[in-house]
Amino acid sequence: MRIIDAFDLYRFYHTGEEETLALRGANIHVDSGEIVAVMGPSGSGKSTLMACLAGLDEPDGGYVELLGKRITRRPEAERAAIRAQEIGIVLQSGNLFNHLSVEENIRLQMQLGHKVDEERLTLLLNQVGLDKRRESRPSRISGGELARAALAVALANSPKVLMADEPTGEVDAETEKKILDLFENYRQNGGAAIIATHSEALAAHANRILRVFDGRIVKYD
Ligand code: ADP
Ligand code: ADP
Repeated sequence: MRIIDAFDLYRFYHTGEEETLALRGANIHVDSGEIVAVMGPSGSGKSTLMACLAGLDEPDGGYVELLGKRITRRPEAERAAIRAQEIGIVLQSGNLFNHLSVEENIRLQMQLGHKVDEERLTLLLNQVGLDKRRESRPSRISGGELARAALAVALANSPKVLMADEPTGEVDAETEKKILDLFENYRQNGGAAIIATHSEALAAHANRILRVFDGRIVKYD
């Protein structure tokens, strides 16, 4: 089943006199049960692409469809509702609230989505290996734990698609292996994931690798 279709995405940034073309005609199609790795040098447009696909940013040209439904060029409130219910997002900057515990962060995400499911919450904490950290604030846990907590929040509402920007950016090899297992589990359950990464280990795990260069997708394997 087709999960994400993105057609001819363009994104311009204006900073003072300068204009940056962060995306210049990117197309992507992702089916359920697929993990797609997005790779490319820093500044090539990966984060911009991920933000547009997740409905966090509006492209200046082109459009994105999630399950055949357009998510671009809608009011922010509508996009926010779609994000909360259908899309799991892991941002480079982290997606946890510091004044809430790990468990409360997941519960809040469930509230924003469909419903709070305590059984699923416990299962998620177990899957990411954070049972003992459920009551900890994000600032009190390690980088590897933080990465797994971010993933648990992203998966809180069993999203149709997971968009992750460098989910293993600053974690050790052992944590990366745990995160890979989580992705694998998610894929086996029919989930689709688009992951921007510099990690060869993560890319080796993907069904396809998409190479981004200068705002374009130059290679689609
Ligand atoms: P990007 O915006 O392309 O994701 P950043 O410079 O923000 O790149 O880096 C994101 C993370 O990836 C950081 O942890 C950084 O150390 C790491 N990183 C950046 N470039 C590379 C690279 N070429 N190979 C491996 N890791 C990298
Ligand atoms: P990547 O994730 O591959 O590092 P980005 O999508 O972050 O690439 O950036 C693509 C290009 O757009 C870069 O030239 C970057 O400097 C520029 N860019 C990204 N975000 C902004 C912004 N908010 N304002 C201005 N330029 C930006």
